[in-house]
Amino acid sequence: MDDEFVEAPLSEFEQAGKIAAKVREESKSLVMADASLLDVAETIEGMIVEEGAFPAFPTNVSINEIAAHYTPEKGDQALFKETDLVKIDFGVSVNGALSDTAYTIDLSDKNGKLVEAAEKALANAIAGIKPGVKVGDIGGIVEETIKGYGFRPIANLTGHMIKTGLLHAGIDIPNVKTEDPYEFQVGDIFAVEPFATNGKGFVSDTEQVEIFSLYLPGGLRMRQSRQLLNHIINNYGMLPFAERWLVQEFPSKLLVSNALKEMLRMQVLKAYPVLKEAGGGLVSQAEHTIVVEEEGARILTQ
Ligand code: MN
Ligand code: MN
Repeated sequence: MDDEFVEAPLSEFEQAGKIAAKVREESKSLVMADASLLDVAETIEGMIVEEGAFPAFPTNVSINEIAAHYTPEKGDQALFKETDLVKIDFGVSVNGALSDTAYTIDLSDKNGKLVEAAEKALANAIAGIKPGVKVGDIGGIVEETIKGYGFRPIANLTGHMIKTGLLHAGIDIPNVKTEDPYEFQVGDIFAVEPFATNGKGFVSDTEQVEIFSLYLPGGLRMRQSRQLLNHIINNYGMLPFAERWLVQEFPSKLLVSNALKEMLRMQVLKAYPVLKEAGGGLVSQAEHTIVVEEEGARILTQ
């Protein structure tokens, strides 16, 4: 970002929100037993492009105890099972104005309360957001709501401020009560995303990584790495991307994988490991993007 960087206008965030809402509702019917995870992820990304926008990050398709950051690999054969609790999380970029939304589908029909807990926590959190309210107090609302259902919030996952071209812009909304003093201001844009679980209430990293973003460019020795880095800068900027997307552009999976390894070693990239509930509990999620106005939060993704 150079000196001429300007925030995108609110109208573009509104547009990114409207597209996300449409794609969210239209994509829900795709998630069913025996459907392919890869098909669903790619269909959602295709729907976003058809609307004249770009995916703000790879479609996350996280099942059961996986809380976030899984996206199918190229050639992934996995299918949804009729017992799966499925979180679909995706975002839209309109000229760098971003939206972020997620929903949970319970294919088993046995975890309705867990899904409801995250949705109700989202609604209560949004209703509580007003200029001057502290983010830590919204965490308290999320925590109380989810505990009211007999579940736990995931304490180490958070909502986040959004800025033009930047999905996680430095301020978080916790999912538990904290002393975090940041006060919402008119014009702030945030993703609000409670996670509920019947497990321990926190996630840990797994070994698997499918999603990356640019961290600090430079210091690469392999020609292929430099070539891949240029592609990443030109196409994704600071936004997260999937190994699957790179393999689409650079058909040698081995080359991509070796270049990614060098870029991680040199801290050119940041990795987003697949996150798993620490107690192996089931995880539900609900997410909207909001803008803070005088009277309170207005949902952009509906
Ligand atoms: Mn999200
Ligand atoms: Mn988010």
